Amino acid sequence: MSNSNIVWHSHPVDQQTRSDQKTQRPLVIWFTGLSASGKSTIAGALEQILTGQGYHTYLLDGDNVRHGLCNDLGFSDQDRQENIRRVGEVAKLMADAGLITLAAFISPFRDDRRLVRKILPEGQFIEVYVDANLEVCQTRDPKGLYAKAQRGEIKQFTGIDSPYEAPEKPEVHIQADQISVAEAVNQLLSYLHEIGALQAGYEPVALGA
Ligand code: ADP
Repeated sequence: MSNSNIVWHSHPVDQQTRSDQKTQRPLVIWFTGLSASGKSTIAGALEQILTGQGYHTYLLDGDNVRHGLCNDLGFSDQDRQENIRRVGEVAKLMADAGLITLAAFISPFRDDRRLVRKILPEGQFIEVYVDANLEVCQTRDPKGLYAKAQRGEIKQFTGIDSPYEAPEKPEVHIQADQISVAEAVNQLLSYLHEIGALQAGYEPVALGA
């Protein structure tokens, strides 16, 4: 709820100052996809490479924020919407701090993702569709959640009894059921390089996937 008595206060140190100090372009790299599609794994591997190359990053992870910031929220459509709204605002603050922010959230609804894109400065939101088909995700099932959903022990599980709306025009589409984690990271690095988000001199990395 907005309050008309609260006026935005501009401070002398702004996003530009903070990102210049870090010599990097702030971004929100937003990973969306089914549970177990590989969002956290790929985001974590990318973050490791970026920090290794001297970039300043932060990874916001869906499971982790539900332990704190969003521990009052469940999985109804309304709570999912609020979850993404809050996390979007946090991602915006982190980008404002000059960070390359990676966000790994199922974020199943297009409108919620669109809203996050909208609150960020132009060009700072990169939607990454981590695309793995449901059967592959169910086979991986690293946390046993699909098994629980199949037994009816978890309700409103995305892909089972709650919808997933795939991005229509993501900046990056990763076919995570066909390529390795290392290949996915290289796909992302070449995209970031292509749009001028990374400094020159980038070489594809060899990761033991
Ligand atoms: P999510 O964050 O989307 O729920 P996770 O990253 O937690 O997914 O889990 C994905 C699982 O799939 C991990 O155990 C990961 O090691 C495995 N995996 C296998 N192949 C791949 C791949 N090509 N890309 C991403 N993850 C993969």
